[in-house]
Amino acid sequence: MNDILIQNTTKYFQETFGSQPSQVVLSPGRINIIGEHIDYNDGFVLPAAIDKIICFAFEKNNSNTSKIVAIDLNDTFEIDLSAEVQHDEKVWTNYIRGVIQQLKNNGFQFEGVNCVFSSSIPVGSGLSSSAALECGFLFGMNELFNLNIKPVDIALMGQKAEHWVGINCGIMDQFSSVMGLENKVIKIDCRTLEYTYHDANFSDYSLILFDSNVKHSLMTSAYNERRQQCEEGIAIVKSNFPAISSFRDCTPQNILDLKDKMSADVFKRSLYVVKEINRVILACEALDKGNIELLGQLMFETHDGLSKDYEVSCDELDLLVDLAKKEEAVIGARLMGGGFGGCTINLVKKGNEEAIKAEFTKHYFDAFGIELKIYDVKIGNGTSNYKHN
Ligand code: ADP
Ligand code: MG
Repeated sequence: MNDILIQNTTKYFQETFGSQPSQVVLSPGRINIIGEHIDYNDGFVLPAAIDKIICFAFEKNNSNTSKIVAIDLNDTFEIDLSAEVQHDEKVWTNYIRGVIQQLKNNGFQFEGVNCVFSSSIPVGSGLSSSAALECGFLFGMNELFNLNIKPVDIALMGQKAEHWVGINCGIMDQFSSVMGLENKVIKIDCRTLEYTYHDANFSDYSLILFDSNVKHSLMTSAYNERRQQCEEGIAIVKSNFPAISSFRDCTPQNILDLKDKMSADVFKRSLYVVKEINRVILACEALDKGNIELLGQLMFETHDGLSKDYEVSCDELDLLVDLAKKEEAVIGARLMGGGFGGCTINLVKKGNEEAIKAEFTKHYFDAFGIELKIYDVKIGNGTSNYKHN
């Protein structure tokens, strides 16, 4: 599938600029296997890059103006690199502007490029097309102008570019897009940014995402409220257990002991966070032993926690996970991302994919009158130069 994307992007470049690109870059989206609402709680996440990508074709144009084409939007913008970088009402251009602003801020020397890009990552479904866009463009600039930016710093600058756009994201999305490896998940310690790779040997299973195709407006307010409740929770923990400075050093019993000192909501949120951090550790152990069934069970537990204790699910996502629990062929499922819509991630026994997809599509439509969108994903490599076979 990506072969055609790469061919089309290269061809488009040639038709637009009259030459072959000197650089072709592939930059993936990501999934998160387990570890949800944990990045801002000093815990661990377990993401992986996927085989859905943005393909960029580049050349230097020996001027001080960059010309960038978003093929999928049939839209072009030019930016004068000698002027101060400004935000624009065309949102997609801000991700590129944010990267250019970062390069300038850090004193890198570069000139204008011609660039076209096109994508196989669904936009706005929680697969981080935005991180792929920032990190892929930055990776290309790094190669073209020999800037010697290390991969981890590409991720960090990508994150800052997204902050510049106005989205206060953690590091997970950019980190997984840049650092991903085929058939590996990355355990990222969100407190220290230390990371380890773990084998994700899913050979008997397929990863299927069911996109609920809904986005409830509660998302932003609930996110801010959860962050605040977690801060309140950890403050109560610290004042009662001075040796503990973050949720990852707590046991569930510590939180249970404080039940009377917390509001009902703060108690539930805190308990979820402590249990979820522990589930990520258990998930890595399960992967290291090749015990995918156990990983699946942990994913179901995460969903229950997100739904009942963290309360960031919705009827649509709960139905999709309930369906998964009833199907013997689905060994794990949970909502992925912030919640209140977006996708569920499912581990499905090989050979059952088409039957499961048909079943879910029908039930989902019967319940909500909404078409389910479905994405098959495989774990792929991080941002890289395209190499011809
Ligand atoms: P997600 O990262 O989950 O896909 P976001 O809302 O964070 O969703 O980022 C999506 C935005 O990124 C789009 O609204 C658009 O501005 C930009 N973007 C992503 N993919 C493309 C693309 N192929 N072409 C142009 N802009 C894109
Ligand atoms: Mg995004």
